[in-house]
Amino acid sequence: MDRVILHCDCNGFFASVEMLSRPELRDVPMAVAGDPESRHGIILAKNELAKAYGVQTAETIWQAKKKCPSLVLVPPHHEKYHEISKLVNKIYLDYTDLVDPFGIDESFLDLTASMHLFPMSPAELADVIRARVRSEIGITISVGVSFCRVFAKLGSDYKKPDATTLISRENFREIVWPMSVSALLFVGKRTAALLERQGIATVGELAAADPLHLTRTLGEAGATLHRYANGGDTEPVRSYYHRERPKSIGNGMTFRRNIVGEDEVRAGVSALVDSVAARLREENCKCTVVQVQIKDPEFAVIQRQTTLKRATWLRSEIVETAMSLIRAAGGLGKMIRALTVTAAGLVADDEAEEQLDIFSALDESAEKRESVEGTLHEIRRRFGKGSIQLGYYKKPDGSDESES
Ligand SMILES: [Mg+2]
Repeated sequence: MDRVILHCDCNGFFASVEMLSRPELRDVPMAVAGDPESRHGIILAKNELAKAYGVQTAETIWQAKKKCPSLVLVPPHHEKYHEISKLVNKIYLDYTDLVDPFGIDESFLDLTASMHLFPMSPAELADVIRARVRSEIGITISVGVSFCRVFAKLGSDYKKPDATTLISRENFREIVWPMSVSALLFVGKRTAALLERQGIATVGELAAADPLHLTRTLGEAGATLHRYANGGDTEPVRSYYHRERPKSIGNGMTFRRNIVGEDEVRAGVSALVDSVAARLREENCKCTVVQVQIKDPEFAVIQRQTTLKRATWLRSEIVETAMSLIRAAGGLGKMIRALTVTAAGLVADDEAEEQLDIFSALDESAEKRESVEGTLHEIRRRFGKGSIQLGYYKKPDGSDESES
């Protein structure tokens, strides 16, 4: 029997969440932007009115303002986005425990085993879930319904906002095959360019291509993509409750226009790190390694990483570390097409917290830190690991006092 897979995608997520707390923003062209005071700040999301002016995600504020001078800018509130994201997933979990978040505003659901509980078709059940998110949370989602993840994902993108699209065994050739290959899950710009060079521009052309030939040019991925194009994605949807702690948390962006120079790069890095830092908190962990990946307009990639002296989840520390990596790699003097910042070497918050927060509270020299560390070690040895919470202050919203 075919599976029933849903892909649920929140429409204009960041902007929708901002409009929840500030309804007046519904009536003006509005965008969420990292670093809104800087003209180099990056547009992260926009509402429908701003979209009508041509405002695009991943462009700079000054580009957006050229098209829409009255654009209202709002700084991002990533912790709020995570909170709402959890509430939305909680609704999905009323239907199945096979809920697999794919980023902050999308989830795959496998409803195969629960369909018998509901006297309706999969698409009708998708409509019910959609209506619940709209009425209980106040935002809209679009839903793709299919027999595999890859087609469900294409379905959620097919019609939006607030719509359901069914992609079945019967209609997938009609709906999916005319789409551009770049719409397919895991086909990036580079893979799309490689395929296009072989005369493969649509999913249908990919489906009809010789899989052996694809493997020769794309490796293992070639066979996988061929399978995907023919509806052969059999990957399971994982349980919400059995997700592993991530090994790293990264965020990347391909900019609308290449960026160059300290100010533009800093604005880009800062937009990326905002959400990385929020996710570190969300997962209750800190990072000991910061990585950057810089892609130039010719797709050449430079990767750099460094190990931190102490674990952190502070955005300012991650931003400065990423900036010095990029500076050292000569990245401030050339065109950058895409940037990724990754927090790696993650450690659980309770392993890292004591050291960091005592140090930042004292803000002392390295020598003093050494001696504090020695003292802490001694106290912990005698009284146990959880015995020290000095200098640690959490605001009610969960953020650190030390971070602005
Ligand atoms: Mg979305």
